[in-house]
Amino acid sequence: MPSAPAPLAREPSSAFMPHKKEEVKESIGLYQRIKNVVYYAFLPLIASYNFIHAENLVTKKREFWFLPTSFEKLLGEWYFSSAVNQNNGKCPDREKTQMAKEIFNNLEKHVKRTDLKYKFVVTDSNKVNAFALPQRVAINKGIINAVQKYCERKGYDNNMFKAMVAAVLGHEITHSDARHSARILELLLLLNVVVIGSKIYLSAKNLISNKSQKDERFTSHDLLEILFNFVSNLVVKLYMLLGSRSHEYEADKYGMYMMTKAGYDPEGAIKLQEFFQEKFETPKGWIAKIQEFVSTHPMTAKRLEENKKTLQAIKNDPELKSQIEKIEEAKKAALPAAVGA
Ligand SMILES: [Zn+2]
Repeated sequence: MPSAPAPLAREPSSAFMPHKKEEVKESIGLYQRIKNVVYYAFLPLIASYNFIHAENLVTKKREFWFLPTSFEKLLGEWYFSSAVNQNNGKCPDREKTQMAKEIFNNLEKHVKRTDLKYKFVVTDSNKVNAFALPQRVAINKGIINAVQKYCERKGYDNNMFKAMVAAVLGHEITHSDARHSARILELLLLLNVVVIGSKIYLSAKNLISNKSQKDERFTSHDLLEILFNFVSNLVVKLYMLLGSRSHEYEADKYGMYMMTKAGYDPEGAIKLQEFFQEKFETPKGWIAKIQEFVSTHPMTAKRLEENKKTLQAIKNDPELKSQIEKIEEAKKAALPAAVGA
C-alpha cells in the first residue's frame, strides 16, 4: 500500500487561502467569501503593480515602467539609421572607428541591462556631438577630433584622451541603460492622457468650447479653451524639460561609474566638461541662468560641479578601490614618458 502523504509542515492558515472542499460549505461565511474574491480579483493588479513599479537597474530607484522592452528596442531600430544618416553616415576612418569601438566594447561589459543588444557607430559628422537611442549609440568623428586636439594642446597623454572619449560614451550608454528615452515617452504618454481626458471632461461639461465651425462668435468658452491649451502645453513642456535635464545628470553620474569599472580614469569626465566649457563658452550672470532654465542640457559649469562630487564618491567607494588603484598606477607609469615627451 502506498504510504500516506507526509503532512504539510504547516497548514495554510491564512484567511485568504482556499480551504479543503468539504470544509468550504460549512465554515466559509459571507465575510470569508468576500475576502477570497477580493484577494483573487486583486492578484493581477498586485502583479501588474510590481511590473509597472519596477526597479531601474542603473539608479536602483523604483519607477512606473509600463512600456515593454520590445517596444523600446523597436524605437532604437526605427530611428537609429536615419539619425546616423543625418550625421553623414559611417566614418570611413578605420583607425578612429577601431579606437572608439574598443572603448565602447570595454564599457559595454559593465551595462546593467543584459537584455539589450548594442550597436555602435562612429559617424562622419564634424559636429561636436554624440547620441543614444535604446540599445544604439553613436559618436561623431567631430567630437573625437576636437577632444584629441584639446588633449594635445593641454599636454594630456593618450590615456586621458581615451578617458575623455570613454566619458562621452559612458554618458550615452547610460541614457539607454537607464531607459531615458522610454521614461520620457512614458511621461509624455501619461501627460497626454491627462490633458486629453480633462479636455473631454471639460467639453462634455460645456466648460470649454464645443461649437461647430459655422459658429464664428468668440465666446468665453473659447477663451477658456485657449487658456487650457496654453497651460497644458506649458505643463507638458516643463515636465519634459525637467525630466530630460535630470537624465543628463544621471547619465554623467552613472557613466562615470561605468568608465571607472572599465578601467578609464573618471577624471576624464571632469576634463570633458572643462573642454565643453571652453568650446561652448559659458555665458555669465542672469543670461546663463535663463539659458540653463530653457535648455534641456544643463550648463557645463553645473555638470562640472556635479561630476567633481561624483569623482569624490567614486574615490571613496570601497567597491571601486582596486580599480582606482590600478588607474592611479597606470597614471604614474605614464608620467615619465609624458614629461620626457
Ligand atoms: Zn546626454
